[in-house]
Amino acid sequence: MMEKPLKSIVEIMDPPPYHWVGDGFRVHNFFPSQPQIGLQGMSPFFLMDYGAKWVVPPSDKPRGVGVHPHRGIETVTLAYHGKVAHHDSTGKSGVIGEGDVQWMTAGGAVLHKEYHEKEFSKKGGLFQMVQLWVNLPAKFKMTQAGYQAIENQMMGKYVSDDQKCKADIIAGEYKGIKGPAMTFSPVNLFNIKLASGSATDFSFPESYNSGILLVEGEVMINRSKKISENQFIHFGHSGEEIIAEATKDSILLVMSGEPLNEPIAPYGPFVMNTQDEIKKAYDDYYNGEFGYLED
Ligand code: MN
Repeated sequence: MMEKPLKSIVEIMDPPPYHWVGDGFRVHNFFPSQPQIGLQGMSPFFLMDYGAKWVVPPSDKPRGVGVHPHRGIETVTLAYHGKVAHHDSTGKSGVIGEGDVQWMTAGGAVLHKEYHEKEFSKKGGLFQMVQLWVNLPAKFKMTQAGYQAIENQMMGKYVSDDQKCKADIIAGEYKGIKGPAMTFSPVNLFNIKLASGSATDFSFPESYNSGILLVEGEVMINRSKKISENQFIHFGHSGEEIIAEATKDSILLVMSGEPLNEPIAPYGPFVMNTQDEIKKAYDDYYNGEFGYLED
């Protein structure tokens, strides 16, 4: 059997030094802050904040980040350990627990707040999460705000015959199994759990931007590069096939999508195409046009 050419590897990145989002999220920003990836290198993914494992001390007052706006993006929050409670100005709220995902479309205007869930906060404990911002194509930037609560059992499920590879498909497709998330441009997003000594393979088009965050374990990629826990591997645009062989029990967050190929004007919580649109976002925000959400 002819093997498809292996996807090229641009770089393996260690997590950059962390910073705090509010007082609840201790995150390593792999992009866009790191110049190797910048604004466009993982398009349509614009931002990845990775909250590597840390133990949250017990607190009666939940830690987190208060009411703030977004425009022009979707925020996708994945919980691996701990629980996050979310509320937004469309009236939606929910708790994201281990294995769950929340897919919020900010569209033209949303206000939201995110805190450690109350009971989790009281007890404290291990916390690990990822927040991705998926950029919206220009024609959908002002779409209506929306919210997809994607609980773990709603995800596409793949289990290999030997049970050593299990995948939760959030968006796009893996091994012919589709994820439930509705997206505005082609996006693949899934978690693969690989038992030590087992392997899997998958492929994405050459034009797509692709990467893997190793949430846990140790994996050999394309028989040539070892990635360790908390590292991100950024693929290039030649070759399609990716082979992952686990040398420890591992969890891989795999992301790939078709680049939007549009100009990006980001500022704070807004990601637009032009500076004029950023100015308009601030004007609209200060004029109260993003709705209301109680602190
Ligand atoms: Mn936010």
